[in-house]
Amino acid sequence: MSDRPILILGGTAEASKLATLLVAQGRRVISSLAGRTRDPAKLEGEVRTGGFGGARGLTGYIARENVSLLIDATHPFATQISDNALVAVASTQVPFVRLERPAWHPKPGDRWTSVASLEEAVAAIPTRARVLLALGRQHIASFSRRGDVHFVVRMIDPPETPLDLVDFELELSRPGKVEDETAFLTKKRLTLIVCRNSGGSASYTKIKAARDLGLPVIMIDRPHRPGTHTLIDIESVSQFVDEILGSLRART
Ligand code: NAP
Repeated sequence: MSDRPILILGGTAEASKLATLLVAQGRRVISSLAGRTRDPAKLEGEVRTGGFGGARGLTGYIARENVSLLIDATHPFATQISDNALVAVASTQVPFVRLERPAWHPKPGDRWTSVASLEEAVAAIPTRARVLLALGRQHIASFSRRGDVHFVVRMIDPPETPLDLVDFELELSRPGKVEDETAFLTKKRLTLIVCRNSGGSASYTKIKAARDLGLPVIMIDRPHRPGTHTLIDIESVSQFVDEILGSLRART
């Protein structure tokens, strides 16, 4: 095993699977988590938790730990850490790749309204709708001005501060299988889903359930990102790691 670690900026299911794969290949891996989830699933390899202190902090960490390769496997909507990663890469010249799951695309039967921002999503909700708000807690406050709408807010961990919504109920659970999602949407008499185009399979089940039930979805598009070297699956990243670390070894 090389002493120089691979640093994975994580917090996603793909980042966790990638850490497992690289560790199984005998590589030294440090996964970095922001520390937002109270009880994160166990990760293979080393783990560090908490912000780095901006791009400068991340740059310093990469230099101090003698990181051989940086992998940004953060969530498609986590743009600040990804911007910081690009700044750190530019100043340290550490080899870099982004792992990003592809976005969802509408299929026949889907009734999506695509919007570019939370604000557009707030404005697009019809009066008296019953809405599944499938968003992180930091995005809920934008919907507080819609007192004419009933929200069902689904979260994994309970919010630390009361939710700033007029008419809502809180559901503490993870997305389930398609049949569970169908039953949930029906039981709560939901008429609309508001969510972000996260991609991946875990949270796609509600989209499939909405299609089956003919429910509309307000889909918040992914934020624009600067062009970077991006791969869409862990196998391609593993191959890239082989090539880069192979060429680094050949140079030493
Ligand atoms: P963000 O807005 O891009 O980042 C805000 C700050 O949090 C960063 O500047 C950084 O602090 C710290 N940070 C973020 N990711 C980090 C990581 N992997 N390791 C260490 N520090 C990190 O990110 P966010 O949207 O709050 O998301 C936080 C984390 O949750 C991400 O790792 C992401 O992969 C995961 N996640 C996000 C979402 C989402 O919807 N945004 C969904 C699922 C999972 P410093 O500047 O101090 O370094």
